Amino acid sequence: MAHRTEALFRDDAYLKTADATVVAINERGGIILDRTIFYATSGGQPGDTGHLERTDGSRIAIAATITGETKDEIIHVPAPEQAMPVVGETVKLIIDWERRHLLMRMHAACHLLTVVCPFPITGASVSEDDSRVDFDIPDASFTREEVTAGMMDLVRADHPIFTRLISDEELAANPGLVKSKNVRPPVGTGKIRLVCIGENGAVDSQPCGGTHVKSTGEIGEIHIGKIEKKGRENRRFRIRFGPMPAN
Ligand SMILES: [Zn+2]
Repeated sequence: MAHRTEALFRDDAYLKTADATVVAINERGGIILDRTIFYATSGGQPGDTGHLERTDGSRIAIAATITGETKDEIIHVPAPEQAMPVVGETVKLIIDWERRHLLMRMHAACHLLTVVCPFPITGASVSEDDSRVDFDIPDASFTREEVTAGMMDLVRADHPIFTRLISDEELAANPGLVKSKNVRPPVGTGKIRLVCIGENGAVDSQPCGGTHVKSTGEIGEIHIGKIEKKGRENRRFRIRFGPMPAN
């Protein structure tokens, strides 16, 4: 039976610690809690790493976080040779915040890229130092410099980033919200989470379940490292932190 883990990061991506209770250990040794601040790998964003601290102060290192039988079941995968907690035990959750914050900055940067390049998205992957978004773009007239300048204008404007829930009907009435060419947001649960940028989402709104920083200014300096041709109409844009290298 799949468990439903309360995903605290959905309402507050800035939680660095929380307390939770172990509800199950699955057959592969994955730890399932009643609630968690650990983001599970999904939508191109990797899952969190960190620790579970037991009441005696000892720590269980968490090497990965993934979803289980359903998207609502979050599995904390311990590093090799960790002590195992028991069902019913209370633990303190500690995520690797430095890594998560980099992922939140990068993930928000991916949204800015989709504003500057308003084309159907065919894939995306976020990491701490290099992220990519693939677009279906027939022509290759974009330069790294132009796209970087457009993204940095949005960073400097320091627009707010926030989430809002909409109904299936509202999404159906606004098909333009979905920028992904192949992936549709899950419908039927009644609520779809929109990630909005700018006052009232004036800069952008799109369905996303990931974690993002709370303003575009917090992303900091970024640049497009590379634009690669992947297939006839596919272009892959790579985002990196820092200023664009001189050459
Ligand atoms: Zn997102």
